[in-house]
Amino acid sequence: MGSRREATGQLRTHLNSLETTPCNDRCVVSNVLQPMKNHYQQSCFLLGIPDMRNAPADSGAEVAFAGRSNAGKSSALNVITGQRSLARISKAPGRTREINFFVVRDNLRLVDLPGYGYAKVSKAIQKQWQQNIARYLETRQSLCGVFLLMDIRHPLKDFDQMVLRWCNAADLPAHILLTKADKLKRGAASAALLQVRRQLQELHPGSSLQLFSSLTRDGADAARAKLDDWLGITEEDLHGLTGPVGDT
Ligand code: GDP
Repeated sequence: MGSRREATGQLRTHLNSLETTPCNDRCVVSNVLQPMKNHYQQSCFLLGIPDMRNAPADSGAEVAFAGRSNAGKSSALNVITGQRSLARISKAPGRTREINFFVVRDNLRLVDLPGYGYAKVSKAIQKQWQQNIARYLETRQSLCGVFLLMDIRHPLKDFDQMVLRWCNAADLPAHILLTKADKLKRGAASAALLQVRRQLQELHPGSSLQLFSSLTRDGADAARAKLDDWLGITEEDLHGLTGPVGDT
């Protein structure tokens, strides 16, 4: 135990020397046309795959986003990356069951896992999704953590608990976004946060959590800070990233 976290630490020290993964033209265009408001704004779609057989090279670092369908995963990805259309790619017909990879920069990626429970699919297919996700979490060396998104009003359903147990077993950090926090009053949201925190002590004692709202964007900065931490993005990187466009 601990080896995966140690490996992640070593990985961070080498990130700057890793090879650059090419982005598509859309990213370049968006870089030129828009000042970058956050350093995830240049994220771009790399590829979507039905299973891990054709996954991109398992190098660099990536953070996976998991959640039940309708938990607010696409909205959160859009808010975090400051891109209205990014997660629409994951929602496009044919892509909803795929694992979608987005390049943040160089060899750093965000990975959108299929929303569990999407549409009415057979038990056999649901089982296959579960196996794909479990296999990905267990075997992916570049995976340095999982963002698990749960609607604050319906937290820790069976699927969520399963993901947390898998992460715990795989020695993989988990960070929970309690989404749609705007749906509850402040006191109720804090109470929900406390309640989930308590339950996490059993499911994944090392995990962290926060409130999040795509509507108000509350929690977006904290979510990006957690991603920075896991992906090893430093202040220095950010200055390098912002360049002349963002500095103006
Ligand atoms: P996904 O299936 O997990 O990708 O969920 P979506 O991001 O598509 O969101 C599902 C529904 O919840 C949509 O109608 C969103 O507009 C809504 N939604 C998502 N995030 C929020 C939020 O933070 N606050 C509110 N009030 N609604 C949200």
